Amino acid sequence: MTDPASLADRVQEGELRIHELEAEVDFDTAAEARRLLVERETDADLEAIGDYAFPAERAEPNIENMIGAAQVPMGVVGPVSVSGGAADGEHYLPLATTEGALLASVNRGLSVIRSADGADARVTKNGMTRAPVFRVDGVAEAAETVEWVENNIDSLREAAESTTSHGELLGVEPYVVGDSVYLRFAYDTKDAMGMNMATIATEAACEVVSEETPASLVALSGNLCSDKKPAAINAVEGRGRSVTADVVIPGELVEDRLHTTAEAIVEANTRKNLVGSAKAGSLGFNAHAANVVGAAFLATGQDEAQVVEGANAITTMDARSSGDLYASVSLASLEVGTVGGGTKLPTQSEALEVLGLRGGGDPAGSNADALAEIIAVAALAGELSLLAALASNHLASAHEDLGR
Ligand code: NAP
Repeated sequence: MTDPASLADRVQEGELRIHELEAEVDFDTAAEARRLLVERETDADLEAIGDYAFPAERAEPNIENMIGAAQVPMGVVGPVSVSGGAADGEHYLPLATTEGALLASVNRGLSVIRSADGADARVTKNGMTRAPVFRVDGVAEAAETVEWVENNIDSLREAAESTTSHGELLGVEPYVVGDSVYLRFAYDTKDAMGMNMATIATEAACEVVSEETPASLVALSGNLCSDKKPAAINAVEGRGRSVTADVVIPGELVEDRLHTTAEAIVEANTRKNLVGSAKAGSLGFNAHAANVVGAAFLATGQDEAQVVEGANAITTMDARSSGDLYASVSLASLEVGTVGGGTKLPTQSEALEVLGLRGGGDPAGSNADALAEIIAVAALAGELSLLAALASNHLASAHEDLGR
């Protein structure tokens, strides 16, 4: 009895567990049986959720208890004109979002950036981190452990790199709090976002630390990594790619296309993104970088929970003496990959193909660097467009006030 209705009956009767359906039938039939079960128990109609366009088996590494797919509208912005360390030329960028007006706004910024001969972008730091926590007796043992780690980085590298053919251990930063020792391992994970890779490699290195020092491993992640939590350490030290994009926009372009002035945009940026954010105790000093990061993450198969740190950005604006506007966005901890994780799913993989960045780069790591640079330029476009809108509204209302 392997038709979806009978399978749903068997789950409801307790004969079969909901997560065991794939052991009985193919992945699509299992998903259909689960939908039937949920429909019976909730009276919800799951027709749209069940109308997905890829073999359920393709999603096996990415989801358990699959019932279908959440379909988020995807659009495209661009071309993104970028001169980067890895990205060069013009790229269309797919963005998936439910926020109307977002793509229009980003596109307005990108169009101005193109007219200004494109933006520069660079990945200035790269390191995916995992920070296990160890228990020691007290500070004397903590110091002994730290000293051993500092003197034996090669042994840790050998253990960590034995688990991966791509990952490279860049360094280990120790932190001591009482009888806890945290070791923040940082890896070059090439074109992978690298969280699995870094975790597996760190586990192997931890075995060496446990054997050679008085420290006992308590947790492979001690939260100083810091993954999927807002954390100053990522803003300061970086995580994944630290990437900056900048552009100089001629004064005439600011006036003709953004309908404002460099000075007005700078004032909006200072009072809103810098002073307002400081007063709010914000970790983010930007207008809406999370909009572009989140939409690009969904479209290209990144881990969406990492938007938390991916949108950790500072936007700066400067009025140059010529009347030109200097604009930059620095994303401190953008964790992106073009291999692994959700990047292999069919729609996400097509979106990476649009960018010309599907799969591993040559040299390894260059595709993920390029993706980071393109996202940074799109985030810069979003910042420019929103700040210009605020600045031009301000000017408009100021003109109205003056006219009265
Ligand atoms: P992954 O899919 O686990 O690993 C990437 C794989 O790609 C590696 O096995 C690597 O092989 C291979 N590879 C092939 N070509 C490569 C290239 N050019 N550059 C780099 N690697 C290449 O992905 P991941 O990026 O390490 O981890 C991402 C996944 O981790 C996501 O699904 C995310 O949701 C999940 N995640 C895990 C944790 C955790 O704590 N484990 C936390 C957050 C998120 P080799 O290693 O053999 O070289």
